[in-house]
Amino acid sequence: MGNGPGTTYCPDCEAIVSVRAPTCPQCGAPLNAPAGMYEDPERPGQMRYWNGSGWAPSAKNAKPIDRLAIVALVLAIAYFPLVSTVLLFAVPSLRAPVALVYWSATAFLGVRALRRISSGGSRGRGLAVAAIVITLILLAGWLVGTLAGVRTPIA
Ligand SMILES: [Zn+2]
Repeated sequence: MGNGPGTTYCPDCEAIVSVRAPTCPQCGAPLNAPAGMYEDPERPGQMRYWNGSGWAPSAKNAKPIDRLAIVALVLAIAYFPLVSTVLLFAVPSLRAPVALVYWSATAFLGVRALRRISSGGSRGRGLAVAAIVITLILLAGWLVGTLAGVRTPIA
């Protein structure tokens, strides 16, 4: 029994393997398959990227993006279009106190996300840092405006 079309021999264990399998299902030896999506030998039924000589990290192995970091960044970005604008027209006198509470919460979430990311369980350092930086810029803008006696559009 030879190898038919679409099959080849594993160079290591000489098993007959599909040319569409990047690694031998018997011994795991790489089969010089071109880069592309193939069935993941570690997770049957799931596709995984083969770069021509090795597997890309699978979705299972990839660390998730820290949710707190995402929430912190969304809150930081949402402040200006949402909170600041709404309060300006609704209750202008509440803008500063609400802004300070809001910024404290955003910064707190950003710092907590950074701690979690540093402990190695998740990704998203850039998101957490961006959330903290945006919050600090808003706070600084408000502080400068307040100290100068200028009514800023921030709070
Ligand atoms: Zn083999």
